[in-house]
Amino acid sequence: MSEIRVRFAPSPTGYVHVGSLRTALYNYLFARHNHGKFILRIEDTDQTRYVEGAVENLLNALKWANMDYDEGPGKDSDDGPFYQSQRLDIYNSYIKKIIDEQKAYPCFCSEDRLKKMREEQTAANMPVMYDGFCRNIPVNEARKRIEQGDKHVIRMKTPKNGITKVNDIIRGEVEFRNELIDDQVLIKSDGFPTYHFANVVDDHLMKISHVIRGEEWLPSTSKHIILYDFFGWQIPQYAHLPLLLNPDRSKLSKRQGDVAVEDYIEKGYLPEAMINFIALLGWNRGDDQELFTIEELINDFTLERINKAGAVFNIEKLQWMNSQYIKSMDNDSYLSVAREWLKKLEIQDENEADILIAVKDRLTTFKDLRKETTIFFREMADYSNEAKEWILKSESKVVFKVMLKEMGHYSQLTLEIFKQLMQDVQKTTQVKGKNLWMPVRAALTGELAGPELPMVIDIFGKNKVEKLLKQAIEYRG
Ligand code: GLU
Repeated sequence: MSEIRVRFAPSPTGYVHVGSLRTALYNYLFARHNHGKFILRIEDTDQTRYVEGAVENLLNALKWANMDYDEGPGKDSDDGPFYQSQRLDIYNSYIKKIIDEQKAYPCFCSEDRLKKMREEQTAANMPVMYDGFCRNIPVNEARKRIEQGDKHVIRMKTPKNGITKVNDIIRGEVEFRNELIDDQVLIKSDGFPTYHFANVVDDHLMKISHVIRGEEWLPSTSKHIILYDFFGWQIPQYAHLPLLLNPDRSKLSKRQGDVAVEDYIEKGYLPEAMINFIALLGWNRGDDQELFTIEELINDFTLERINKAGAVFNIEKLQWMNSQYIKSMDNDSYLSVAREWLKKLEIQDENEADILIAVKDRLTTFKDLRKETTIFFREMADYSNEAKEWILKSESKVVFKVMLKEMGHYSQLTLEIFKQLMQDVQKTTQVKGKNLWMPVRAALTGELAGPELPMVIDIFGKNKVEKLLKQAIEYRG
């Protein structure tokens, strides 16, 4: 087989959709699995959709996800430039060729006429597509009108008979009736190519062997195949990825949760967890393994194991995965990421490392550091309703009082001393188990759940523990 070359070809229109990240990832995994090339091409020919900073966002997201490309912006090769807006001369030379061969034609129809045409077609329940009004204008006349400066676009002259077949690795053979394929605009009146034209020319020139992209592009593929035929170029292999769905199986939408990769970065997800999660949106290895390292993904990924059915974006699963990834980090790597987050959250403390380790197992994302570390950064407790109930239980009072008194025997509270202390309290009060531990936890942390108590006590130190016990005694009145 000739070299595997795939591309991720986003249109920078603002944020990076999680679906785009999946497309990028599947291309990346396929390239790495096959020792091929992964190319990044920026499809920025739609000037009306230009958004400042969108390309930077994209590059950042790829960098964050650790998906390095072999050719693309900043990694030029003979196939560049990789911004379509810098390739206009190339598209012009190719469009000339098919106009000369009468496979494409200038269309002078005004917006008004096209609007009316569409309205009439809709009213008559007909497919909405160009009616071919300019398809047969004699070449000389068309040339004259162009020289006069008449506003026009260039459309492809789609054959009106027969069928166009798309062979898709995931979907099998899909057929399209040519009479229903539109005379797609290839060059717009501003001289810029449309997605369809630039995409086909570039995939050919960049020697793309496999086009792996979202299912929404499948119908367009029929037009692309006709274009390949016009030029006599070899058609790449196609793999159209299943839709991403909300849990109610509607198309994944902003209304039901975050869809921008930037949101997940900002919320403190680990790239490794996100990649693992995204990889399973439409692909599985054939068993029920859920946690994969990137090496395993590269090793096991094949297009044949991608599903046809839509993939549900289940945020709880992502959260679970992220917490698993955090738990499995070694403490040094964990601390270096967590410290960055503390800085971002503007939290500082001399016991930083101990605090971070104490809450490690409780984090779903790094953003949780704020909530999970508050008990360490406040002087007095702020009781939840459940905590209040435990504090107010009749036998809790004696627990607090005895604990406070017994603490007087120790100059400081270490892990061992705390253990001893609780044994002393149990002996004196005869309160044990939950009835002993819960009021203490409630009084010290204000909550019923939290990091392990001995760790909390160790970080709090004797003074703070004393103060908090006094607070609880006072609260009971
Ligand atoms: N520019 C298209 C997009 O933004 C690329 C589609 C394709 O991969 O052909 O999704």
